[in-house]
Amino acid sequence: MADKMLRYILKLLKDDPPPELDEKLSRIPEFCEIYSEILSIREILSGMKSEERIFKERETRLQYLANHDSLTGAVNRRAFMEQALIEIQNNIKNHTPCGVVMMDLDFFKKFNDTYGHIAGDKVLRHLVALISASMRKNDFLGRYGGEEFLFFFDNADKKTGVAIAERFRRTLESSPVQLETGPAFITASFGVASIEDEDVGDGVNEAFIEELINHADQALYQAKNLGRNKVVSFNRGGDAKINLQSM
Ligand code: GH3
Ligand code: MG
Ligand code: MG
Repeated sequence: MADKMLRYILKLLKDDPPPELDEKLSRIPEFCEIYSEILSIREILSGMKSEERIFKERETRLQYLANHDSLTGAVNRRAFMEQALIEIQNNIKNHTPCGVVMMDLDFFKKFNDTYGHIAGDKVLRHLVALISASMRKNDFLGRYGGEEFLFFFDNADKKTGVAIAERFRRTLESSPVQLETGPAFITASFGVASIEDEDVGDGVNEAFIEELINHADQALYQAKNLGRNKVVSFNRGGDAKINLQSM
């Protein structure tokens, strides 16, 4: 009988759902008490499990909000830098090139002035949606600030980075944003920089990424000076190179 009782208690602790109250054991009042105690402890534990799940979901949501820009859903500047640091380190370990594209909408202030700020916000979401739809698995897009975005291209050389930026440029140029007043066209300028042009002497740290971004920004500046809606790449020891396709 003692054996049977112990086996039964074990089942009561482990089985899901718990076994029905055994008829013979139910005649022992102390056993009935153990039975109902174990059941109520199980109930408390399963309640805690769902509370834990709710807590985990909330944590995941908070983490998403902390890493993403709420307007466009692109990763924010800090998260972009963190992710880029990891990815550049991986590329260097694997002896593969990678880099960044900095992009900035052209005459966006004028766009806001003409169509309004809400329409401007729509353009920012439009840009992110267009680029996100054609991104490779390990590439990612971040909102660097205002109407400036940074794109990380993984396992690709500068030439490929330029080709990717050129594809974005053309897609944006030919995809008007649909406003209540009709379609509105917008373009952007692009600066491309690759780790091929960088000095990895001091290792890949925040300063390294800032320098890489700074070089993409210099190329972007040239793209603006050349009339906008252009792709320009940074070249160490030489003039920034304009992509002839965007002339
Ligand atoms: P350029 O071609 O030289 O880049 O000219 P630009 O007008 O795009 O550049 P400028 O820096 O003069 O203006 C940037 C504009 O971007 C001004 C600002 O109101 C707008 N902007 C920045 N963030 C947002 C945003 O979140 N929503 C909207 N609608 N506009 C924004
Ligand atoms: Mg700007
Ligand atoms: Mg601009």
